[in-house]
Amino acid sequence: MKAVRYYGPGDKRVEDVPEPAIQEPTDAIVRVRTATICGTDLHILKGHVPEVKPGTVLGHEAVAVVEEVGTGVRRFRPGDRVIVPAISACGICSYCRRQMYGQCENGGGWIFGHLIDGLHAERARVPFADTSLYPVPPELEDEDVLFLTDILPTGYECGIVRGRVKAGDAVAIVGSGPIGLSALVTSRLHGPRMVIVIDLDDNRLELARRLGADHVLNPSRLDVRREVMSLTGGGVDVAIEAVGVPDTFELCTELVRPGGNIANVGVHGSPVTLHLERLWIRDVTITTQLVDGYTIPLLLDLIRARRLDPRPLATHTFGFDRVMEAYDVFANAAETRACKVVLKVA
Ligand code: ZN
Ligand code: ZN
Repeated sequence: MKAVRYYGPGDKRVEDVPEPAIQEPTDAIVRVRTATICGTDLHILKGHVPEVKPGTVLGHEAVAVVEEVGTGVRRFRPGDRVIVPAISACGICSYCRRQMYGQCENGGGWIFGHLIDGLHAERARVPFADTSLYPVPPELEDEDVLFLTDILPTGYECGIVRGRVKAGDAVAIVGSGPIGLSALVTSRLHGPRMVIVIDLDDNRLELARRLGADHVLNPSRLDVRREVMSLTGGGVDVAIEAVGVPDTFELCTELVRPGGNIANVGVHGSPVTLHLERLWIRDVTITTQLVDGYTIPLLLDLIRARRLDPRPLATHTFGFDRVMEAYDVFANAAETRACKVVLKVA
């Protein structure tokens, strides 16, 4: 079967690889139908995630069909269409029992395209199938639920819930990529009075505007700090960092009001200066989190009820035969205007 393998920084190859096989009774083998590329896949390709061994199949976000199940799998049968989340859960370790699946101690957590072969392949082995997969309701298309695999729960859990966004809040989202936009579309569930989205890319700000941002600000054109202070009357209640570089984190610390929250969502590859000499006196809370996926059932219900529509986040669709082009389009978002890129694998 065909798969996209990582061989080192800047080196990915489409190759014929052996078919995956059941290794544990709790495994399933799935046929990937629809997948998407993540900013984290690009981080890996830049060499920022050294644990990924050469030869690993990339990808951790897909909708698939179960082809085979191990003897211990009870909830799924061949033919079931399933959401394969980025985070796997053994279901029984102390962190899984606390719904902190991202911290699973038993071989779960973020493993696809990281510690085991991922989902940019025609087939994949899914560990802990019963406690990791979700059935797709028959009335929904793959594209309706595809972003439940990672970006929607990441934006919601790590940004909105962790940042404790509540009714009436003013929220700044720094970064208008897929994660920032996911925080934007899920912020509405908590009733903020104002959501301000900040990015250097006008195309992405335009998408943010279409998805309901009240204000979009481009720091290359205006003084974002002054603008946010004047819009909010003294700073936002919650600043969400959705880029993962030092400048954007520091900007969040300058936009938040005393007593406010900074929710870091971005994947950082280098150290950030924490200005405690300014922050210590301002009662600010800073949070970090890897997505757990515990809100997938809630977000799925909202999508079924047509209260949440993630489909506008998809800007491009490619067949799997054009997967290399899809990576390039996603990696060059400023020129291609890409947000999420959908791969139709089968
Ligand atoms: Zn991802
Ligand atoms: Zn676990």
